[in-house]
Amino acid sequence: AIDFKWIRDNKEEVAANIRNRNSNANLELVLKLYDKMLNLQKEVERLRGERNAIANKMKGKLEPSERQKLIEEGKNLKEALMTLEEELIKLRDKLQGEAQCLPNMTHPDVPIGGEDSSRIRNLVGRQREFSFPVKDHLQLGKELDLFDFDAAAEVSGSKFYYLKNEAVMLEMALINWTLSEVVKRGFTPLTTPEIVRSSVVEKCGVFYARLQVYSIENSDQCLIGTAEIPVGGIHMDSILPESMLPLKYVAFSHCFRTEAGAAGMATRGLYRVHQFSKVEMFILCRPEESDSYHEELIKLEEELFSSLGLHYKTLDMATGDLGAPASRKFDVEAWMPGLGRYGEISSASNCTDYQSRRLGIRYRPSESPSTNPKKGNKSNLAPTQFVHTLNATACAVPRMLVCLLENYQQEDGSVIIAEPLRPFMGGILHISPK
Ligand code: AMP
Repeated sequence: AIDFKWIRDNKEEVAANIRNRNSNANLELVLKLYDKMLNLQKEVERLRGERNAIANKMKGKLEPSERQKLIEEGKNLKEALMTLEEELIKLRDKLQGEAQCLPNMTHPDVPIGGEDSSRIRNLVGRQREFSFPVKDHLQLGKELDLFDFDAAAEVSGSKFYYLKNEAVMLEMALINWTLSEVVKRGFTPLTTPEIVRSSVVEKCGVFYARLQVYSIENSDQCLIGTAEIPVGGIHMDSILPESMLPLKYVAFSHCFRTEAGAAGMATRGLYRVHQFSKVEMFILCRPEESDSYHEELIKLEEELFSSLGLHYKTLDMATGDLGAPASRKFDVEAWMPGLGRYGEISSASNCTDYQSRRLGIRYRPSESPSTNPKKGNKSNLAPTQFVHTLNATACAVPRMLVCLLENYQQEDGSVIIAEPLRPFMGGILHISPK
């Protein structure tokens, strides 16, 4: 339920938003298709009216010749209607397809510009000083026997990996610790299907999807790039009672990304891979609450990363870096000493009603007895509204492994396990050379 009328009535604002966000959406084409669709709809309705008028006339007494004439007219109308109705379906599909590319409208506080215009919200901790030469996670992994990229390249292809030994324990500890921390704060835990219908990916508006997803041959399904897709889809095409909101989920899933176009970006080791584990938070709430839940999500992420002893900065991402669904996005970039730079470890987005409109997730405001005395009378029910959706990374494992290994390395070549993860490590407190 994209609001085309609103888009048409606010054309200048929508066009400026598309420019600011560096989006390649084609607003002119969307509006042209919308007008065409409205005209066609009118024509279809006119013809339906004529057909009904003929049907009514046929109910009365008629001369045989007149009846014959009406039958002919009715037949011609039916054929014309069928052609136009088919055209209308095609036109609607085309309009929806084009409209999928339109980005969400931007929160007024978002800085306008490219990546460099993103604003630092918070800087936590400082870079650890090392009294010995720093190793990157690849070298540490080799010396401590934690990964096998070579075998994975043979078995699966480049940018795949086997984790081994303590790295496996560390992945599971990260997932379990993160889940337990987030569940403690009232989120409902989920594991999700990792194969979904492509239409659900499109409805989530995660537009990198088409290029970034692995599609399954001879099917309308694909592998998920993030749990945001199946969690977003859990309530699609439904009307939730207001009393159910907010719905707070925390989902564990594997994520699969083709990473098309990622050449030239940091691709060494675990930083950018085709398959990884992630714990993802997702909230559905009333529109007026989404800004405050966005703050809650970024604070929760910060708490988790601080507990793990990471040094990081939190950014209010500029318009050019938002992707299509987010109205506002906060990224966290953590210091990775071996790589010698900050790397993105998480992102928290407020997607407002962008996904809920496409997925058809509404809520019905509770009736207030004073304004709705005739309770139970359907016509007195408050009109439904679209919920707002938010998503945020609680733990994307590979980059977290990079951070933990590189930040907690010791002079003797070992790596200490971060304090909160120890109870989940089966007695392993540090990783030593074998
Ligand atoms: P996104 O869903 O794109 O916002 O990504 C969420 C988080 O997943 C990022 O902040 C990264 O930590 C991690 N991530 C994204 N893509 C990859 C990848 N190809 N390999 C490893 N981690 C990734």
